[in-house]
Amino acid sequence: MTKYVFVTGGVTSSLGKGITAASLARILKSRGLSVVLQKLDPYINVDPGTMNPFEHGEVFVTDDGGETDLDLGHYERFLGEDLRRDSNVTTGSVYQSVIRKERRGDYLGATVQVIPHITNEIKARIKKLGGDEVDVVISEIGGTVGDIESLPYLEAIRQMRKDVGRDNSCYIHVTLVPYLETSEELKTKPTQHSVATLRSTGIHPDVIVARSDRKIDDSVRRKISLFCDVDGDAVINAMNADDIYAVPLDMYDAGLDKVVCRILDIDAPEAELDAWKNMVHTLAHPTETVTIGLVGKYVDLPDAYLSVFESLRHGGLANSARVETRWIPAEEVDGLLADAHLEGLHGIIVPGGFGIRGVEGKIRAIRHAREGAIPFLGLCLGLQCAVIEYSRNVLGIGDAHSTEFDPTTQNPVIDLMLDQHDVEDMGGTMRLGVYPARLEEDSLAYRMYQRQVVYERHRHRWEVNNRYRSSLTAAGMIASGVSPDDRLVEMVEIPEHPYFIASQFHPEFTSRPDKPHPLFAGLVEAALAYKSRLGARNSTEAAVQVDI
Ligand code: GLN
Repeated sequence: MTKYVFVTGGVTSSLGKGITAASLARILKSRGLSVVLQKLDPYINVDPGTMNPFEHGEVFVTDDGGETDLDLGHYERFLGEDLRRDSNVTTGSVYQSVIRKERRGDYLGATVQVIPHITNEIKARIKKLGGDEVDVVISEIGGTVGDIESLPYLEAIRQMRKDVGRDNSCYIHVTLVPYLETSEELKTKPTQHSVATLRSTGIHPDVIVARSDRKIDDSVRRKISLFCDVDGDAVINAMNADDIYAVPLDMYDAGLDKVVCRILDIDAPEAELDAWKNMVHTLAHPTETVTIGLVGKYVDLPDAYLSVFESLRHGGLANSARVETRWIPAEEVDGLLADAHLEGLHGIIVPGGFGIRGVEGKIRAIRHAREGAIPFLGLCLGLQCAVIEYSRNVLGIGDAHSTEFDPTTQNPVIDLMLDQHDVEDMGGTMRLGVYPARLEEDSLAYRMYQRQVVYERHRHRWEVNNRYRSSLTAAGMIASGVSPDDRLVEMVEIPEHPYFIASQFHPEFTSRPDKPHPLFAGLVEAALAYKSRLGARNSTEAAVQVDI
């Protein structure tokens, strides 16, 4: 029977509930259990697809085309499993299906209410992830206990214990234990209040994960255990970690999985975390550093590029190198600050995006990479900008553009290729989720992947216009990846350049710390080579100067 773990948070937001849930999942998996993660989001949007990345961070795309919360990215990277769109539930999506059922008459004339109709729908979404193959479902409830929006979720998970039984459910509450400078003490009162609020909803936590910036000593632990009525060893101290990937190791050392397995009556072998430990060690002891510029529109909120940032770190891991990401506001690359921003980079990445703002800066950064033989990786809009840049500056088509940005351009090198011109519902027209791409055998793409067909996640509307394919190829930019029917360009590259490659899909969604994505590993490898070429050149120049 599937066991259910629920993770709630108190005191403040941003305490790392998602990382806690993901870390527990990783440890349980390394004990041989099959685990699925889920995020329950209390906002009214049906999914985060339409939300501004400035506000909500990146939209993470699953294999089956779900547009989901960025926590799912953490889940996949920690757990090492592909999740489905069901792993993200929002209040909007819950209400949408309840109202649909009501309109269909499914409730047989009953008055439709939060309890039981909304709570039943939430429970159904949680239970849907369970099943014969799944040992543990971990559901994280977004927001903070005490928020009006989270109440239906708390009521639903309270009922879950009644439904599945005490041995099959576990409540973990993540709180903050702040240090007060004036009294030089760690204070447990906020945790006590938060647990009191949680208990007022009928949920009695089994485990408290206490976040603190210094070690919680035994007297503080005892206090939390006593006032919050949890076992002494169920107070897990989670201190700030040096790196998020170290958190599963810290949680394991603190005994989180032991307590959870005891509560859930799970008999499983000890956790096997050696490979993970080695990975964290490599991350902390790089032998080299490279600086990669990320040229984007939303760089003020790095969460908007969370998966790209993490993938760069994974690419570093594959090369025992540390990647210093330089966040470059695309708009400024189109102005006087361009040189300052682009100077000293060992690689450039142009990630995905929507809207015209910053596009000219991205194009300029790509030109800089192409002409300077600087390693470049373009993702989605990054590919589209690379094609525009090449068309303008190599093919000499001055007004080459995407119809997304200039609907009347005479040279739409990027255009809507699928019959999408007349569709009004913006949600419905995107190419979302996994599609195959066939790779050209004698290409950089093929050398990186070592495979003929790859499956990658998409989230876009526009495509390379096939009318320009032959002239691009003739001029030196080849389509090294295409859809199996050859109708859509999936990857482009410039064979003459040491590393200039771009994908219409998003490789950042499938990169994992213990399985870095080849395109990112390749970028960092090329950046290291570029750096050493640069070093060699500089030392020759220095020698020449000394001679003089
Ligand atoms: N705006 C572009 C499109 O819709 C690129 C999207 C993206 O980068 N995810 O095709």
